[in-house]
Amino acid sequence: MIVPKIMRAFGEGIDDAALNRARYIAVSKQIPVMYSIIGVSLIAAAYTHHGVAPDYLTVYLPAAFVLMVFYRAALLWRSDIAKLSDEEIADKMVTAIKRSTVMALMFAGWELALFQYGTAYTQLHVAFFATITVLSCIACMMHLRLSSTLLALLINGPSVVFLALSDITVFNAIAINALLVTGTMLFMCFRYANDFKDLIAKQQQLQEQRSRLRSLNRQNRWLADHDSLTDLPNRRHFFSRLAESIGGDHGETRPRIVGILDLDGFKAVNDVLGHLAGDQLLADTANRLRDVLGDDAFLSRLGGDEFGLIFGSSIDAAGAVAKSNQLCEALLAAFDVKGSSVHIAATVGLASYPSAGRTGEEVYERADYALCYAKQHSKGTVVLFSEEHETIIREVSQITHQLREAELDEELSVVYQPIIDSGAGRLTAFEALARWDSPVLGRISPDTFIRTAEQAGLIGQLTTILFRKALAVAERWPEDVGLSFNLSPYDLNSFETMARLIQAVEESKVRPSRITFEITESALVQDIGRATESLEVLRNMGSSIALDDFGTGFSSLGQIQRMPVDRIKIDRSFITGIETDGAARNIVNTIIDLCRNLNLECVVEGVETREQLELLEARGCSLIQGYYFSKPLPPEEADMFLGKWVEKRKRNAG
Ligand code: C2E
Ligand code: CA
Ligand code: CA
Repeated sequence: MIVPKIMRAFGEGIDDAALNRARYIAVSKQIPVMYSIIGVSLIAAAYTHHGVAPDYLTVYLPAAFVLMVFYRAALLWRSDIAKLSDEEIADKMVTAIKRSTVMALMFAGWELALFQYGTAYTQLHVAFFATITVLSCIACMMHLRLSSTLLALLINGPSVVFLALSDITVFNAIAINALLVTGTMLFMCFRYANDFKDLIAKQQQLQEQRSRLRSLNRQNRWLADHDSLTDLPNRRHFFSRLAESIGGDHGETRPRIVGILDLDGFKAVNDVLGHLAGDQLLADTANRLRDVLGDDAFLSRLGGDEFGLIFGSSIDAAGAVAKSNQLCEALLAAFDVKGSSVHIAATVGLASYPSAGRTGEEVYERADYALCYAKQHSKGTVVLFSEEHETIIREVSQITHQLREAELDEELSVVYQPIIDSGAGRLTAFEALARWDSPVLGRISPDTFIRTAEQAGLIGQLTTILFRKALAVAERWPEDVGLSFNLSPYDLNSFETMARLIQAVEESKVRPSRITFEITESALVQDIGRATESLEVLRNMGSSIALDDFGTGFSSLGQIQRMPVDRIKIDRSFITGIETDGAARNIVNTIIDLCRNLNLECVVEGVETREQLELLEARGCSLIQGYYFSKPLPPEEADMFLGKWVEKRKRNAG
């Protein structure tokens, strides 16, 4: 208890664990050296006094002392400081100070005892030996100020006093000298100990800063890798994990399933209940997904309402499909969002490595394809990318490639299907329908190549070529025969295409009023503002607009009123069952009534039989298109077909 108190009073402090450890490490390296010096010097002093002083002073005591000193040195050499706790080190420091004090006292006693014997010469040896040895001891213990001070006082004190009090002047001089050297040594030692203390404090500070920096870095890394809303790994993290899981640096080759889960109906929640509600829904969704998946898959938020899944390598395709179905089911239960009960669903696309792709990214793209496919064909289900999808992709990419390579002007042609006013017995117009005969792939259906051209950004080019061809043919027809031409939604969104279409009309002999542009509802869904602008331009030119495939899209009957549309074409899917299917008949009747109320023209397409025609005529609908009258015809056949109708009219009139 007393030693720590003295140490504190001495400004030495034993409460600073880091400083203690550093001092102890330093001192424990020096103490064996100090012991060795003491041991050897002791033997030398004992030797010079042997026979002069009694044996207990020159043999037994020194022998015991030397043995003890070497024993301590050996112990210190072998001790492993790293294993000592802070408390143990503090204890050992206190013990070291106590021990050095006891040893110094013993040493001083022995020294004084020895002085009584021998000549001035040997006495000088003792004083010299004590002073010099103590100087090296002070140097060795310089990290512990208290210890070095005690050594100086206890050992050098008596010898200096002894030498100072001596009658021999040389001894007095040596006393002054020893006093000064010891004082200087102590002074140096104090300064060093202080510097050492500062150094350790600075090191400590540095270490603290470094560990704070490290924890900040850890935090930053977490933020960079995670989505703060759901606490899930983010898109970046997903893709780096994907790269590790498939191929990667470790060359992972085990089969693996990758998935994308997309919420159905999330946008509506966001729009109706607000973004905060949307955020809560996403966080709750993440929790449900986490609960179902457990450790079976690496779950992350890819962005928006899309979540990424990387299943563990022990889970096969069937297992992943089953798990994904569980995920979809778990999300079906109502969510409580800000007091409202909210329902959503989820669609999942899956793809497996290595069958669907050779790299993580390829597999991800296939999963994305499966997701899009599911969204289009079976929302709310799980679709695993299959051989069938691969075939579709291959075909589309082949078609895209061939479309790019094609001499479109030569390979594209147009066929014409008449639209008959059955009431007036008159051919009113031809609808132009595109045909593509690829020298490599053969004839491709327009549904397919039009969609492909849209995706490949080639549609504007196609539309322009087809329109110019159709105009050239329409020039040959009588003034009262119109041309109906199909436009893609992309055309309406492109200023360039619109400009080219108008230019084509200006360069042809066909009056704009003879032309009807057919558009589908999807054109208006995509970008209603821009589409409406384009339609107004066409109408201002004098042309009409027909809404094609009516009844298959989303627009309600009420919405039509606000659209710049002159005519509606009832989709042929309603006509197919019109004779037997009451529901289909009702729909057709409703649309016919609507057109009458809104003062819109109504064309019925896909009429194939006499019964269908009679049913429609009975409802007062007379603009008819369909195989009953004619299939789409090449230009020359269309000319002939037209000639027959003109003649028939003349006959009837006559
Ligand atoms: P659509 O505009 O609805 O064209 C009518 C489709 O129904 C044509 O198919 C036509 O041949 C077919 N059809 C006409 N009458 C009957 C019938 O009585 N029974 C049956 N079963 N089918 C009939 P097609 O020529 O294969 O064209 C398919 C679709 O491709 C068109 O549907 C249109 O959306 C698109 N398309 C065709 N040509 C063009 C074009 O030049 N530009 C654009 N953007 N799309 C085009
Ligand atoms: Ca059409
Ligand atoms: Ca149609």
